[in-house]
Amino acid sequence: MLRFRNTLSGKVEEFHPMNEGEVRFYYCGPTVWEYGHIGNFRSAVAADIVRRYLKFKGYKVLHVMNITDVEDRIIAKSQQAGLSIDDYTAKYIDALWEDFDALGCERPEIVPRATRHIPEMVSLIEKLLETNHAYASDGSIYYRIASFPDYGKLSKINFAGNIAGASERIDTDKYEKEDARDFALWKEPANENEPAWDAPIGRGRPGWHIECSAMAWKHLGEQFDIHGGGIDLVFPHHENELAQSACAFHADRMANVWMHNGFLQVEGDKMSKSEGNFVTIRELLADWPGEVLRLSMLKTHYRSPIDWTLKAMEESAKTLDDWYWVAADAKGETPSDAVIEALSDDLNTPQMITSLHSLRNRAASGAEQDRKEFAASLRLLGFLSESAAEWKSRKQQASGVDPKQIDGLISDRTAARARKDFKESDRIRDELAAMGVVIKDSKDGTTWEIAR
Ligand SMILES: [Zn+2]
Repeated sequence: MLRFRNTLSGKVEEFHPMNEGEVRFYYCGPTVWEYGHIGNFRSAVAADIVRRYLKFKGYKVLHVMNITDVEDRIIAKSQQAGLSIDDYTAKYIDALWEDFDALGCERPEIVPRATRHIPEMVSLIEKLLETNHAYASDGSIYYRIASFPDYGKLSKINFAGNIAGASERIDTDKYEKEDARDFALWKEPANENEPAWDAPIGRGRPGWHIECSAMAWKHLGEQFDIHGGGIDLVFPHHENELAQSACAFHADRMANVWMHNGFLQVEGDKMSKSEGNFVTIRELLADWPGEVLRLSMLKTHYRSPIDWTLKAMEESAKTLDDWYWVAADAKGETPSDAVIEALSDDLNTPQMITSLHSLRNRAASGAEQDRKEFAASLRLLGFLSESAAEWKSRKQQASGVDPKQIDGLISDRTAARARKDFKESDRIRDELAAMGVVIKDSKDGTTWEIAR
């Protein structure tokens, strides 16, 4: 039985899709104003585990991940660069898919872009205007929070009395509003150069929140099964999406289950541009295989905060070297029950990794069936995307070590040992160690490996 923690109910609940055999899943994708950072991809990996698990369980998964390609930063940056929005964002959208593939994330079935769904947004805003959940003021259109008594039920923020909890986004809205909490659905362009669309509701551009409500509606319907994203999206973004969709469709909810993954910090500090510890996925991929990043993320439960450290990546790299070696390209179909059970329990990936370690030990002791089960479990989780030989040679290449040179040094060392010149054989071993090469002597000869 699959159980997820639902932010809406605040409880861990059994999961039952609305339509038998099918799961409709919306996940708030990135804003493509620059390269993706590890925080973005923590969410993407968490969503990928959800979809892989559901597919394994036999569900047909309809997974939608939007791309936000119009907002203040994109407008400012594209204008600075003298490019259209499409030309400016194209590079970051291409990069998004490269990063996605490198991390072993399966591509969602549908990837709607905000700029391609303006008519749906306009029609949703019209519904909200007709029912008095929205109002026009000073050329823009706002959502009327006072019209939705359930506002706050997702984030559990108590709004009684004053404007406590008003976010930065709300504070920086410089337009006329009935209530400081009300948020913009449609913004009048500040000047002639700002991108805007002509619509029956006036010339303007959409607010961020209405984009997701409209794209989810278009591709998944008025209500669907799972809505996910990072915990920083609970308020105001998801609270506002829920309010818009519930009011537009006269429903009490937008999605049945709301899943949120925890924060990510870097070496003990909050990641931010000003702190100088803003880490993009491409920077990390220059030094590490994507699977190392993936494992480093899965070691922490998706709801817990992650502290991203170099040490954790080094450990993940070692673990994967070992897993590739033990699995040795075994072709298995059936993952381990213990791994599935851990995932069924609100995607308990730390527990799953513990199970993988014991399965690894059984597999290493030689039973072919265990090795197959081990390999099948790893593939289910998006690992073993390469052959064991590819993995090893990539590591050698990355180290800059020339295998022929190493083999030469090892045969010199073997010769030195044969003539009992231990001073020379120790010297060669130290030379290899300085190159990052670890050697292992056995009765069959000497083998070597790159240490990280
Ligand atoms: Zn969203």
